[in-house]
Amino acid sequence: MLNFDDRDGYIWQDGALVPWRDAKLHVLSHGLHYASCVFEGERVYGGTIFHLQAHTERLFESGRQLGFEIPFTVDDINRANYEVCKANGIVDGYVRPVAWRGSEMMGVSAQQNTIHVAIAAWEWPSYFSPEARLKGIKLQWSKWRRPDPATIPAKAKAAGLYMICTLSKHQAEREGFDDALMMDWRGRLAEATGANIFLVIDGALHTPVADCFLDGITRQCVIGLARDRGIDVIERVIMPEELEKADEVFLTGTAAEVTPVGQIGDLHFQPGTMCKTMIEAFTALTREPEAAPARIGVEG
Ligand code: PMP
Repeated sequence: MLNFDDRDGYIWQDGALVPWRDAKLHVLSHGLHYASCVFEGERVYGGTIFHLQAHTERLFESGRQLGFEIPFTVDDINRANYEVCKANGIVDGYVRPVAWRGSEMMGVSAQQNTIHVAIAAWEWPSYFSPEARLKGIKLQWSKWRRPDPATIPAKAKAAGLYMICTLSKHQAEREGFDDALMMDWRGRLAEATGANIFLVIDGALHTPVADCFLDGITRQCVIGLARDRGIDVIERVIMPEELEKADEVFLTGTAAEVTPVGQIGDLHFQPGTMCKTMIEAFTALTREPEAAPARIGVEG
């Protein structure tokens, strides 16, 4: 495995491509000390960044929720995303834009700090065939809960919100699981550490209301794909006990795509027809452009 700071290629930083190893920030950066940092995670499928516009708009909105404005236009950032893919020859991969407060002031207050932006991209082919994926991953319950929006900008894709995700995922991995599942601050079912959750109950999809966590772009796509196929989708409050009556469970996210779940704590699930249908629908949307009229792309 190549370290992420020691690779060939180019990273876009503050308006220009720089050699990968030179894309640095100072240790006295506000973003590092005080988590004034927002980011995105995007996938490139066959040379098109999936829902780029939505991701870029979310990046800007996350910055605003942390009280800063990204010093570029949405179009500039969209173009830069493609510049980075092109410079690194990425056709199927992952793109990571990140924005953070710089080093002018080093304290809680950072009114004068410059906002920096960088975009990196790397190859990331899909690892699992639909068949391998259908075995399902194992989730362990986290002791951490998604926070009350009155305590933090809970819907920003901001670095600080991932502190409990890393703690949760490390604990789950130590216990032999693949990922962790979190409740929210009220004890309701919420999401995994980097993906949203869906339950299949009596042929319908049920998913928690995204009122204190990210309403994922993949989540929104999957809801649309299901409704297009005449499948009922119910966004509602879901209590953890209700998992007992779920026939199937899956996660959605940019990295996860549609990932079936085989186990949550002591409960076991058998990924079935619905998981298969949604994996196939999502694969068609991302990999087969002719089957995906709703696909968003910016010419690069
Ligand atoms: N929740 C969290 C905490 C995430 O990090 C992600 C991945 N960005 C998601 C949900 C899914 O969001 P999306 O489908 O937009 O990738």
